[in-house]
Amino acid sequence: MDFPFDIYDVANKIGLVLKRQHNKSADYNCPFCDGIGKLNLNVEYNAYRCNKCGAYGGMLDLFCKCTNVPDRKTAYRYLAVNGSDDFSIQKREQRQATVSSIKEVPKADIDRLDFCYRALLDELELDTPHKWNLLERGLSEEAIQENLYKSVPVDTYNILVDKLLEKDCDLIGVPGFFTDINGEIRVNIHNHMCGFFVPVFNEKRQIQGMQIRLDTMDTKRKYVWFSSAERINGCSSKSPVQISGDVFGSNAVYVTEGALKGQIAHFL
Ligand SMILES: [Zn+2]
Repeated sequence: MDFPFDIYDVANKIGLVLKRQHNKSADYNCPFCDGIGKLNLNVEYNAYRCNKCGAYGGMLDLFCKCTNVPDRKTAYRYLAVNGSDDFSIQKREQRQATVSSIKEVPKADIDRLDFCYRALLDELELDTPHKWNLLERGLSEEAIQENLYKSVPVDTYNILVDKLLEKDCDLIGVPGFFTDINGEIRVNIHNHMCGFFVPVFNEKRQIQGMQIRLDTMDTKRKYVWFSSAERINGCSSKSPVQISGDVFGSNAVYVTEGALKGQIAHFL
């Protein structure tokens, strides 16, 4: 069914507060749990999901829950008839064009992810403040080396990609890499991502993905995944589970939130 509005129009109509805009989705403050920037609105599927309280559904459902409108049919009629004055067809068409121009690729297999991420980390250093941060958390120098923590580089992104290509890294399908509109491979790191990489290992000590521990004072957004979701030829890391120790040879498994916390807890 072709709607004369999309989920961003609905969000504007009910007055949701936008925090971050991505290519195919946007993060708003959640009206259900007040989570700042936790409600992700996906304009490709016209669906929402809160990363904090788990609320989810379609755009008509969102409208009903945030207003006194009793059902989706009434919501549709209200938005299509009464709401359309506020909606910009031009902006909606632009959004649809952006969405359809971005084609993601499937994630690479674990062997290729491990190869490419290790090649990337091999090119990087761990800066002294980051090393101190990790030592203060109780890790030893040896554990820091073993877990391959490295500082996110500043301003050398394109050189980095060239070095990885020289090492025969096939980067398409590796979360964190994508192509620009000219087909050149790029790495999805920006100046505001200052921090250090936390490799996320599987039970065989292969790197499945990476988080970035940001040097931020914002306590609500300390970690981001190294990802290229919503980018051309990019893909999402899909939050793999970090595993420390011998899972199959142990009597007990402890579950923690966050890869770095799990690695430190295991070490200690
Ligand atoms: Zn919520």
